Amino acid sequence: MAEKTHKLFCAKCGKKLTDKEALIHKNIDGKQEIICHDCFKEATGVDYKTFLYRREAAKQTLFATIFCLAATVYAFVTEGPMYGAAGIFITVMIFFFSAKVR
Ligand SMILES: [Zn+2]
Repeated sequence: MAEKTHKLFCAKCGKKLTDKEALIHKNIDGKQEIICHDCFKEATGVDYKTFLYRREAAKQTLFATIFCLAATVYAFVTEGPMYGAAGIFITVMIFFFSAKVR
C-alpha cells in the first residue's frame, strides 16, 4: 500500500490523518483548518456522526415543513378553511416533534 505524497495532519493535536479522517472545520477566526474527529468533537461539543445526522435531520425537517405548508395552502384553496386549519396544525406538530427529536 503506497502512502500518499500529501500528508494530512490535525491542526489542533497534530495527529496524522487519512483522507477519510480529515475534517474541514472553520475555527473562530473563520479560517478553515483540517482537524481530526476527536478535535471536532472537542471544538463543537458533538461528534462528527451526530453532526452529520443533525444536519441531515434539519434538512428533512425543512423539507417536511415546506411540503406540509404547500399541502396546507392547497387544502385551504381547494377544500376550505377547515382543512387549511388542520394542515397548519399538522405542520406545527411536525415542526415541534422533529425539534424534540433533535
Ligand atoms: Zn486532533
